[in-house]
Amino acid sequence: MVIHTTKNSLIKALSTKRIAALQANKSLSVGFVPTMGALHHGHLTLVQKALEENDLVVVSIFVNPTQFNNSIDLEKYPRNPEKDMAELEKIHGEIIVFLPEVSDLYGTIASSEEYDFNGLDQVMEGQHREGHFNGVGTILNKFFRIIKPEKAYFGEKDYQQLQIVRRLVEIEKLPIQIIGCPILRENNGLAMSSRNERLSAAQFNEAAIIHKTLTEVREKFPTHSIAQLHEFVAERFLLIPGIELEYFEIVNEATLTSINEKIPSVHYRAFIAAFVGEVRLIDNISLN
Ligand code: AMP
Repeated sequence: MVIHTTKNSLIKALSTKRIAALQANKSLSVGFVPTMGALHHGHLTLVQKALEENDLVVVSIFVNPTQFNNSIDLEKYPRNPEKDMAELEKIHGEIIVFLPEVSDLYGTIASSEEYDFNGLDQVMEGQHREGHFNGVGTILNKFFRIIKPEKAYFGEKDYQQLQIVRRLVEIEKLPIQIIGCPILRENNGLAMSSRNERLSAAQFNEAAIIHKTLTEVREKFPTHSIAQLHEFVAERFLLIPGIELEYFEIVNEATLTSINEKIPSVHYRAFIAAFVGEVRLIDNISLN
């Protein structure tokens, strides 16, 4: 495994590899997996897929300050680069890890660009985490231009982010294929997340209600109205004292717009954000 801690050293290394491949008349496809570290099996499945589909894989580990709207969340975000490195080494010896400092990517002041994501950023996470998606867009645009991957891998766990990244490469006219990967779950159904590390054992068990509720919404979707489903979810969360529902939405999967009525040919997805104690968790499920 090779670790690069500055963008210049990574750019140089990738360029050397690309030139060598060109001289040998070989192709060299690069797959990229951006992460904020505290790696779990969900992250590792993205890396596995990237390894299967590319000649070279770059994994970034970077807690991006501009996508946090809450300084406590940023401060408490789990960080464990040594363990992350060991996990990556276990699955493949030749992964390239990019572990930059904030100043290397942003200079002295970390600030975001403003993007027109066609309204994809105006709902759910965008509504509840101001500036979040401009921060995500800013850092990914930087990474994409440094690494120039053919393919980049994102989890459906952050489904809204996945759609925004698809829009980002369109806006920036970047020739990168964005690959969505299924959500990996714990045995109790809870979506794997770096933030799960902050849950107590009891909270970890209780948090299973998030996925359980989404599964029930999917079962009820053909026979219940949207209003009935909203009522069902609100009531369910009221019964659990340690968990606070931040939002529940049913949206058109492509446009992410909320719906009041179902149209048969449209694909829908349900989303939940909830606080389990102080820890904010998100999850989603395809409904049809
Ligand atoms: P993060 O480190 O949370 O920014 O996540 C890095 C990437 O891993 C993002 O594309 C996430 O959507 C993806 N990811 C996070 N958790 C999961 C999961 N449980 N299953 C699949 N992908 C995930």
